[in-house]
Amino acid sequence: MKPQSPSASAWTRSRPPLLRFLDTCLNEFSAETSGAVADYIPELGKADPAYFGISLATLDGHVYEVGDSRVPFTIQSMSKPFVFALALDLLGAGKVESAIGVEPSGDPFNSIRLNSENHPFNPMVNAGAIACTGLIQASKGADAFEQIRLALGRFAGRDLSADEAVYASESQTGDRNRAIAYLLKTNAVISDNVADVLDVYFRQCAVLVTARDIAVMAATLANRGVNPVTGEQVLTPYAISRTLSVMTSSGMYDYAGEWIYRIGIPAKSGVGGGILAALPARLGLGSYSPKLDKHGNSVRGIKVCQALSSHYDLHMLNRSDDARNAIIADYDIGKSPSRRVRRPQEREILAAHEQDVRVIELVGTLSLSAVDYVSRRLAGRPRPQFVVFDLHRVTSTTRAGARLVAEAFQELAALNVTVIISGVKRASKEWNTLREWTAELKNVRDFYLLDTAIEWAEDQIVYRYGGSIDFHETTELTEQPLLAGLGGDELTDLASLCTIRTYQSGARIVAAGDPAASLFFLRSGAVHVTLPDGVRLATLTAGMAFGEMALLEATRSADVFADMAATAFEVPLKAFERFRKQHPHASERIMRNLAQLLADRLIVANAKVDILTST
Ligand code: GLN
Repeated sequence: MKPQSPSASAWTRSRPPLLRFLDTCLNEFSAETSGAVADYIPELGKADPAYFGISLATLDGHVYEVGDSRVPFTIQSMSKPFVFALALDLLGAGKVESAIGVEPSGDPFNSIRLNSENHPFNPMVNAGAIACTGLIQASKGADAFEQIRLALGRFAGRDLSADEAVYASESQTGDRNRAIAYLLKTNAVISDNVADVLDVYFRQCAVLVTARDIAVMAATLANRGVNPVTGEQVLTPYAISRTLSVMTSSGMYDYAGEWIYRIGIPAKSGVGGGILAALPARLGLGSYSPKLDKHGNSVRGIKVCQALSSHYDLHMLNRSDDARNAIIADYDIGKSPSRRVRRPQEREILAAHEQDVRVIELVGTLSLSAVDYVSRRLAGRPRPQFVVFDLHRVTSTTRAGARLVAEAFQELAALNVTVIISGVKRASKEWNTLREWTAELKNVRDFYLLDTAIEWAEDQIVYRYGGSIDFHETTELTEQPLLAGLGGDELTDLASLCTIRTYQSGARIVAAGDPAASLFFLRSGAVHVTLPDGVRLATLTAGMAFGEMALLEATRSADVFADMAATAFEVPLKAFERFRKQHPHASERIMRNLAQLLADRLIVANAKVDILTST
């Protein structure tokens, strides 16, 4: 029997491994029924203990969801990190940091204890969170809750609202929080409108979210404050990183030390049954299951975080990175020159100065360690006059990386080395970052195409060593390498078959797909040969042939455009064939020359492939 191949629909229905992992967690931990639903806020006691939803949001904005991931529940203490971050940005770090500490208390969330300065230990316990809300209330008055609600909504990527019943229930019964608030008032951490502050605090805790919302909110924290789904920069990276710091040290109350030791992911829980975990630069997780352990953390939620961390080895302090992967190719123009076909005099100069143009192609993230490694690699060989850094495969630059780049470029400037950057679109994010750091430097240039960058550096070498590149100079057929070795009569005969053509800058001289009906010898100016998909094959200057592949193929495979006003000798292929019959010796020379030119190109192309696969 023939084995059945999986159907196409099986492929489209197949579940990504992370989703399957979440499914497994859901199935496995549904069996866990220990813990108790919080009922000190009476309305919370009504929650169905069977609810279980998990969601994971990636930083490219994909959201995985399993189980009851769309069931709303109150955010409770998971509002604390977001309100703290909001306060930092809204009121200024100085003001917030002088009122609320950042030390773990080792106490439960509702502890009525202040630190030795009579300030809250940190913004993740009730005292600190109420103080934080108090600062916003003092500044925004009646608008305070609305500001908080809108900010929470920007983190979630949708408008959120409060559950009136839960709010009313906590408002009626929240005497412990009232006691904390009065303690804060007597210590002048909040001003005298205790009732108003508590009203905002109770409302903020009653905001309704789903596990999906929490995942997106967590992912926004993990993504330096940019919501990966909406793309909005919700708060500043400063506020976000400081929030993650206090989540790390105090997010899980008197279980915080154990949590960060075992699981190693900044997190925050709420008595509504939610847990939020944000792994910087990786993902955000939200879970909902109402039964809590003795610390007030969701029992199943903790299990999910534990499983995720251990299964994928995600502990944030268990990381490594190999900076050597940042370089994908490192060569000089002896190994891989530009695609500009050079005349003998230029070739000679460049051959004597191969090591003066160094090209380093980079990939991935320009981090502190990547840039450090690159600068040491650069110094490990003789000093070039030009260094081309190709960044088209670079996906991001960290601030540390950018600073080190600037310092390295400064050093190169002092040594009279010119830096050329390629592969970065002008005014793109990367370009702005690099510009911001290298604006002062005079030795930095940029070209979008790597080949153009190398070509420019080669030209400078040619000029520096006495060569000249005169695009207006007119060349004769005698200077064409394709016709090298032909006798005077043969050249005269050939010249009589030529028509001199003139092209405007930008004109298409040869079109891919057209019949190949003539050969061209460039007489003045410059042209480039480009494949239909935009890949530039060569730049040619006066004295070189193009369209010469007509000798081998019937249809043009590439376009040829004039880079500037240009003139060329055109020989119709039919006339050229007659010429070859009349001059068998010349014909053989031309075919040999052609073979030589093609072999030279092949060597260059192979060298490039070799460089990219062996670095
Ligand atoms: N609103 C709750 C309270 O202040 C929040 C506590 C929590 O989620 N840990 O008691």
